[in-house]
Amino acid sequence: MTQNLKKICWSVTLFLVLNPIISIVMLVLYLVFSNSYTVGHIGWITVFGLLFAIATNLSITMGYHRLYSHKSYEAHPILEAILLLIGAGAFQGSCLKWSSDHRIHHRFEDTDKDPYSINKGFFYAHMGWMMLHDSVSLPIHAPDLEKNKLVKLQHDYYLVWAIGVGYLMPLLVGAMLGNAFLGLVIAGGIRIFLTQQSTFFINSLAHTLGNTPYSKDLTAKDSIIMAFLTHGEGYHNFHHKFQFDYRNGIKWYHWDPTKWSIQLASVMGLAKKLKTVQFSEILRAKLETESLNFHNSQFYKETLEPLSAKIVAAQVKFDQMKAEYKLSCQKNYEEKIAQLNFEMELLRTEIKSMQKTWNIYIKSGGMYLQPVRVRV
Ligand SMILES: [Zn+2]
Ligand SMILES: [Zn+2]
Repeated sequence: MTQNLKKICWSVTLFLVLNPIISIVMLVLYLVFSNSYTVGHIGWITVFGLLFAIATNLSITMGYHRLYSHKSYEAHPILEAILLLIGAGAFQGSCLKWSSDHRIHHRFEDTDKDPYSINKGFFYAHMGWMMLHDSVSLPIHAPDLEKNKLVKLQHDYYLVWAIGVGYLMPLLVGAMLGNAFLGLVIAGGIRIFLTQQSTFFINSLAHTLGNTPYSKDLTAKDSIIMAFLTHGEGYHNFHHKFQFDYRNGIKWYHWDPTKWSIQLASVMGLAKKLKTVQFSEILRAKLETESLNFHNSQFYKETLEPLSAKIVAAQVKFDQMKAEYKLSCQKNYEEKIAQLNFEMELLRTEIKSMQKTWNIYIKSGGMYLQPVRVRV
């Protein structure tokens, strides 16, 4: 027992537990016993708190996660400064430490070396791991980020940045909106609690609930509900399979505000070199996963495997044509554009038709599940 207590990092544990309790109790007591606030104060400060919560979460997902941990795009120093500043107000540690831990999570997913492995239990992956000295003192290894002056500055003065942005700024904005105390409690303490939980869900629920369309070997799952709760990070099976893609929701309609924010930053000239995985690669992983149950059957060898190869090959060709099309548009080659348009339309129809056949095979494939006869 004493041995276990010694493993706990009390400063982090007490902050994670006491911040929401004290904030909520103080808010309730203030609303019941004070008469120095109006409905207008509560309304405006809540609106500010919600907007600030979204900004905080996006700074983590767009900054700490997709920019620094995975280098899935490059950001202008102005955007970097904003992301690091607001990100500090999430009270999730410095970007350097966060990214270093997260890279280990990807490299050793689901093993004992994974700092927040879901195999060690739901609560452990959610927030329990942070309460241990072993996690807090996990050595930082991110040489590329250590060379980044802004990241290093945030790391060296992390607590000053965190308290300044996380508590003092809401207090000041609250004062400007008519009530400093409500600003501190709603847009400070309660916002920190909500944004922390949103991030923590990614390590717990996003490794528990949902589907595995791209790899069944991973505990990471894709879930639209999780995507809503985490600003797009809920397409976690895709993310773990293709971690360098700046998108988590690959379709334009997939709920991924982080992806949309990166695209907006790119349009504004604040982000560039957005990395994406070729669609043919994504398709290959999806077809592979869908046909997993059939891998030992004659049906797979004779029908599914050749069809999958055909679909992927057609998609590779389509990806190449798309790149050629973009180039032709830039150079205004009208004749080439028209020709490519026609050829791409034909190929798109062919891919769709093959995929329809594929879906029928997968749905009705159970009857073909005969083991492959091995010739001796
Ligand atoms: Zn994960
Ligand atoms: Zn990641």
